[in-house]
Amino acid sequence: MSVEKIGPIEIIMGETKSKVPFSTSLLLGGENESVLIDCGGGRDAFAYLTQKDISTIYLTHYHLDHIWGAHLFPNANVSINPYDLKKICNPYELAKASGQYALYGKEKAQRQVEHQCHQSRNDELKPRWGPVINIADDCYAYDQPIEVAGTTMTMLHTPGHTEGFCCPYFPEYGVLFVGDYDLTSFGPWYNDADSDINDFIASAKRTLETDAEYFVTAHHKGSFSRQAYQERLQQYIDKIYEREEKTKQAVQRGVQPKDIVYEEIFYFRKNHRQNRHYLGSEILGIAKHIERLIAQGYDFVDYFEQFRSHFHLDIDFLDYRSQPDCKML
Ligand SMILES: [Zn+2]
Repeated sequence: MSVEKIGPIEIIMGETKSKVPFSTSLLLGGENESVLIDCGGGRDAFAYLTQKDISTIYLTHYHLDHIWGAHLFPNANVSINPYDLKKICNPYELAKASGQYALYGKEKAQRQVEHQCHQSRNDELKPRWGPVINIADDCYAYDQPIEVAGTTMTMLHTPGHTEGFCCPYFPEYGVLFVGDYDLTSFGPWYNDADSDINDFIASAKRTLETDAEYFVTAHHKGSFSRQAYQERLQQYIDKIYEREEKTKQAVQRGVQPKDIVYEEIFYFRKNHRQNRHYLGSEILGIAKHIERLIAQGYDFVDYFEQFRSHFHLDIDFLDYRSQPDCKML
């Protein structure tokens, strides 16, 4: 585990340099309280953090790699963004947002949810949904200064990765936690039902509208100076256009809708053999690109319909959108 510090903000990298399913957390220690941002670092990070008297945990979004250790802090108040509170309180809503209903149909998705909710609580050091379903106590407001352990933090709403995703910003220290704008060579991830490619691109610009000097990613690549972030961000966003071009060319080349998932638009073929979740993400990502190409005027409507039909995609759940809501369900 490595810990870097900028002002009062400790940047705590997780296991395997925070590669998924681990992620980086921020810790702010004040005179009277310690506050944690995200909680998916793994064994060493949790051992370090459980020694601190953490009063509040702020979660940037509902993805498991950012939240799975939150149950190890039973005395902390857990706060999540206004879109994700209802998801974390209701695993069926969570499954709709993450695309399980779109991919597997309502009934099978509901059975998967029931299985996930009963995942063992015995091994605390493995990412599991069971212990963190219903973990949040309340939600915070976007885009307003929040006092955390004597420091001002603003949760910038930066949708795209998920609809509720946000970037904690600490203007006094010029630190922006860009989280899943992680600048990895894989490129942007927008493969949930509540992800949106256009929002992803717009929110990337928003991260640069701050006066931040330090851009802290949640995975693998660590922190960047403003100049380095700006350069790498452009390459990172360009990956979206490369994927879209690949999708377009595959359709125009006459690749069958059932075979386009093996065109390596997101994942390599070998990834598909390793884990069926990659195939699900590939399908949802390609669906988003074909829909975006149709919106640009390409005549891919029939192709999309064949693609949707082959993979039994449920159109009612393909694009999940909800209203921000802080009331507990
Ligand atoms: Zn995420």
